[in-house]
Amino acid sequence: MITANQAHLRSWIPVPEHSDFPIQNIPFGIIKLEGKSPRVATRIGDSVIDLFELYKLGYFESLTFDAMDFDASFLNSLMKKGKLAVRELRNSISSLFQSDNSLLRDKMEVHGSFLYSLDSVEMLLPIQIGDYTDFYSSKEHATNVGVMFRDPANALLPNWLWIPVGYHGRASSVVVSGTPFHRPKGQIKPNDDEDPIFSASRQIDFELEMGFVTFDGKALGDSISIAEADDYIFGLCLFNDWSARDIQKWEYVPLGPFLAKNFVSTMSAWIVTLDALQPFRVESPIQSPEVLAYLAGSGKDSYDINLQVAIATESNEETEICQSNFKYMYWTMAQQLAHHTVNGCNVRVGDLMGSGTISGPTEGSYGSMLELAWKGTKPLTLADGSQRRFILDGDTVVMRGYCQNASIRIGFGEVKGKLLPAK
Ligand code: CA
Repeated sequence: MITANQAHLRSWIPVPEHSDFPIQNIPFGIIKLEGKSPRVATRIGDSVIDLFELYKLGYFESLTFDAMDFDASFLNSLMKKGKLAVRELRNSISSLFQSDNSLLRDKMEVHGSFLYSLDSVEMLLPIQIGDYTDFYSSKEHATNVGVMFRDPANALLPNWLWIPVGYHGRASSVVVSGTPFHRPKGQIKPNDDEDPIFSASRQIDFELEMGFVTFDGKALGDSISIAEADDYIFGLCLFNDWSARDIQKWEYVPLGPFLAKNFVSTMSAWIVTLDALQPFRVESPIQSPEVLAYLAGSGKDSYDINLQVAIATESNEETEICQSNFKYMYWTMAQQLAHHTVNGCNVRVGDLMGSGTISGPTEGSYGSMLELAWKGTKPLTLADGSQRRFILDGDTVVMRGYCQNASIRIGFGEVKGKLLPAK
């Protein structure tokens, strides 16, 4: 049973108004403190809590975790203990920090050993990602891309409404929020009637996505049914699947994206558990044609997560350019996972699944520059008056996401990345 989600709970740790991290969140991440090894942490308000220190103080003794699960460079070892164990851990953390629980609250002499302000810690990549799969599950995005690059009359390919289309991406180049990267180089074909050239990409784009991270799945050969899917999802992050559109356009036929996508992808530092998001579960989109039986979900497998994208220029001036929502996705995470494993493909602890670009129905809700500036034909004007068709050197793309109902707000913080000039 999830006790950590109760809306009336308050923490003895201060939580600023509009914080993404009230006591109902309890996300997981990996922190680096001066002179200490990386360790598992959570966050309440703007305070970071070192869970390894709490473990050493004996507060998780009744749980099934070991020191190595918290004294770790990644969350994988902790996740390996499975859904119910992590749920109990989250419940225990919640209990320890509730305002009416004096156990830890009044033990002021130990607070310094585990409690840190956010700006005094470095956030590391939280997951040792085994495999990264990227889906293409927004109908609006797939339609927009089809209209631009193929045929407006047949924008969606025939399989799209039947299959949560995806491809196997690259795990080695997934980085944590805040990591800058260089403009990639490769083959591009600026003019249709001329040969390709080798060049720095001229069309760097972001893709507004959510990622989900899995617990250990089943053995090779077995499938995770759609009814079981939630039991295998640890949590979600914000995810920017950076793309080089000119490289993509030339290389993607017939096997799909390759070097246009694998130069870098950025994930947010805190993983918000699927448990924490349960109050924000909403009805999934009506699907037509009716999906095959193995993809038939509960009808309420979508999540209402507000998403925003902003571009910050070198002067740190931010312009919001997109507002979307995770609930716009046509295919749900449960459907993606059921489809991914229906052939017996084994999912392992720490696998990352990208949703695909999350575009909504209106122009301001498109989740990529490709769509927002419509292939460069409708440049965006930023607050400083400059225009963008794609992302320029020195630009930082910032994505934010949060859920909000009448009583609580739970969020992901932000994922950001800065584009540096080509090497
Ligand atoms: Ca993508």
